[in-house]
Amino acid sequence: MSHILWIKNGRVIDPANQRDAVGDIFAVEGKIVDSISDTQKADATLVDAAGLVVAPGLVDIHVHFRDPGQKHNEDIRRGTEAAAAGGFTSVVCMPNTSPVCDNAGTIQRIMDKVEREAVVHVYPTGCLTIKMKGEQLAPTGQLKKAGVIAMTDDGACVQSNEIMRRAVEYAKMFDLPIMDHCQDASLTEGAVMNEGEWSLRLGLKGWPKAAEDIIVARNVILAELTGAHIHMQHISSATSVDILRRAIDRGATVSGEASPHHIEFTDADLSDYDTVFKMNPPLRTDADRESLIEGLIDGTLACIATDHAPHSPTEKDREFDAAPFGIIGLENSLASSLTTLYHGKRLGLSEVLALLTHKGAEICKLDAGTLSTGAPADICLFDPDEEWTVDANKFFSKSRNCPWHGKMLKGVVKSTYVDGQQVFDGQSINA
Ligand SMILES: [Zn+2]
Repeated sequence: MSHILWIKNGRVIDPANQRDAVGDIFAVEGKIVDSISDTQKADATLVDAAGLVVAPGLVDIHVHFRDPGQKHNEDIRRGTEAAAAGGFTSVVCMPNTSPVCDNAGTIQRIMDKVEREAVVHVYPTGCLTIKMKGEQLAPTGQLKKAGVIAMTDDGACVQSNEIMRRAVEYAKMFDLPIMDHCQDASLTEGAVMNEGEWSLRLGLKGWPKAAEDIIVARNVILAELTGAHIHMQHISSATSVDILRRAIDRGATVSGEASPHHIEFTDADLSDYDTVFKMNPPLRTDADRESLIEGLIDGTLACIATDHAPHSPTEKDREFDAAPFGIIGLENSLASSLTTLYHGKRLGLSEVLALLTHKGAEICKLDAGTLSTGAPADICLFDPDEEWTVDANKFFSKSRNCPWHGKMLKGVVKSTYVDGQQVFDGQSINA
């Protein structure tokens, strides 16, 4: 018998289709359908979603699952369980695994593991350059054949403009978007936090915003030269938002994302030298934070992406200079985005969901992020108003490096469906 899902009486919000009304959602054999017959209704799994929002499963185009290579920090099973618990049904994972994803064999190994262990859809990316050293182009054609959906050296920005130009042209030939971690390494050597008043006060080596702005400007120029789509990851600086805004106005094929932490925290949060606030790019000033929110409001920044970067306590609980960069975010991203943007009265509920669903999916050309007829029945049910206190010790992720730990947020995921099957019921994973 075919599997039929009937989600009843929820507030259905599907931003891609401008839908926001109380109604029903139906799925047959893992796909969204407009309606089902009375006989099918009798056979359906019925879910009463009264009082809840029924949204497309969330999409995160920037996660690190550390698999293969650092499975003590995260792996595909636990990473995707964290995603499901956070309402995410499609994630794009970065290629800085060990070995890195600069060859078809590693992608195949990841795809096999995804097939066996993942509870949500996982889309791998390939390296722009061999070993992410920024010197020699990776075999883009072979990587695409193996299944990558975008090219990036995330974590290690290509420094040579000439190599970047060729990498971008090569990716364009294969119709793959490029995602870039914008960082001029010559300006950030030894730097551990934003350069400014707080780095002076704390006596820590500062990381100027110019390190990001210069590469964002370089990428805009290369996008205009080549016509390739360059997506700028985790934008943190007001100047970068301004550069992107003007480029997009001119019609340049560029886009940007903001991370939940950069729209909530600032470099002042580092005052206790807590390494849970150490990330790359670093937390900036309140003015930068505000510019990022404005960028999300006016569409300069297309989406929110977590940059979920797990590190075990043994790695992260060290003196500030020695601790690795990065924090986790999958299990609180919906709530923190809702708390800052929706409850903070900056954006409507549907607009916040657009940033977490179809906007990111469009950048990576994923069949995800909508409740359109025929789309995969990837669905997230949540209560936008329920309060909870973040307890990272209860996360499905293997890591605990979460700066929201102990904070009160609004918005609780009640249920997550992938291809019409429930994978998270509000408490546990059903895999
Ligand atoms: Zn990065």
